[in-house]
Amino acid sequence: MKVHLRSVGCRLNQSEIDTMARQFVQQGHEIVQDAAEADWAVVNTCAVTREATRTSRQLIRELQRANPDSEISVTGCYAQIKPNDITVMPGVKRVVDNLAKSDLVETVTGVPVEPFDNEPLLRDEVLPGASGRTRAFVKVQDGCDNACTFCVTTVARGAGRSRPLTEVLEEIRYLQAMGFQEVVLTGVHLGSYGHDWGDREGLVKLVQTILSETDLPRLRLSSLEPWDLSPNFFDLWDDPRLCPHLHLPLQSGCDATLKRMLRRTTQADFRALVQAARAKVPAMSITTDVIVGFPGETDEEFAISQAFIEEMAFAGMHIFRYSRRPGTAAVRMRGHVSEDAKKQRSAKLHQLAERMTANFASQLEGQMYPVLWEHVGGATQDGFINLGYTDNYMRVYCVHPRVLTNQITPAVMGSYDDGRVFAEPQLDGV
Ligand code: SF4
Repeated sequence: MKVHLRSVGCRLNQSEIDTMARQFVQQGHEIVQDAAEADWAVVNTCAVTREATRTSRQLIRELQRANPDSEISVTGCYAQIKPNDITVMPGVKRVVDNLAKSDLVETVTGVPVEPFDNEPLLRDEVLPGASGRTRAFVKVQDGCDNACTFCVTTVARGAGRSRPLTEVLEEIRYLQAMGFQEVVLTGVHLGSYGHDWGDREGLVKLVQTILSETDLPRLRLSSLEPWDLSPNFFDLWDDPRLCPHLHLPLQSGCDATLKRMLRRTTQADFRALVQAARAKVPAMSITTDVIVGFPGETDEEFAISQAFIEEMAFAGMHIFRYSRRPGTAAVRMRGHVSEDAKKQRSAKLHQLAERMTANFASQLEGQMYPVLWEHVGGATQDGFINLGYTDNYMRVYCVHPRVLTNQITPAVMGSYDDGRVFAEPQLDGV
């Protein structure tokens, strides 16, 4: 059968879709990029913002219009929260509970999924739609035991649970055999890996084991809640294969707002953490998420938050406008902020984010960083436009006579423009 797979939202959703793709292909099915050709479609939805739920619904409608005969299976956070709304949509064959998502392929095909084998396979054979994919997302954890008052994820994904280490290792070896150069570990609350079996150092052990038991060229960690990191955590970067990049969601830089959000951090704690990370790993890039217009966020609170964000000098920042998520505590709070004020605050932070990224990029200028070239974005008369990322997650590009996709090369950083740095790859001996 031909299968079309789509994901909305976070990297975790993308990693789940990647796993499903491999499972479908292992059973002899074909992944197709064009929804009109598909016998089956799968949508992994998101509910983190109102916009995400709208996009999820729109995508289901688009797939149905593209091929009214295909059977659509829907899973993910939005499907978990509003299964009845989705079940009645045209073309939807089934809604799969988030907790049963790992069995989705078996539910669709009726055939049990075999565990991964370690036979080396060409990655384009296994993931026909994945040409140019050089970085794989591996889900190691799901669910969360925190209760941040804006977050619908805990409602949608349940309590925290971790994947056994042996299973994670097996998947990483498999991906490496397929040709992937970099693995990104993902989870709803990645920092709590192992907490469900009583190991507070679970993530440290997981990273150490992956680094010592595989020769994977690059390992990256996705989002980590700032309160999960123990003092010895930054020792992990003694191994240069661990990418010097931390994504630490701040959400607000004002203590009063953080308290209402039930975030387990403060300005002082967050500052100490960032200082410790930079003291140990000077090249570390630190990126973050921020919500503007959380209930009760006054102009003064926003100004405090903005000043703290500037002080932290993040290398990148995702900005979200607060939206009411049914079932969360924040919905019932007083002092909801007008949409106009949210838009203005968001615009201010977007300007700040651009300034901070440009600043970070200027610090890299003239220095050499390893770049994983990920794909080709076009060509000029001088060569191919190769695009990739440094280990510390700066988007770079170069114009080169060769296609460099899926190679890691040293490259000298040049000037920054429009979200990316011009880099000169050094190919002698590569
Ligand atoms: S830590 Fe907070 S924001 Fe993150 S998933 Fe858990 S409840 Fe949501």
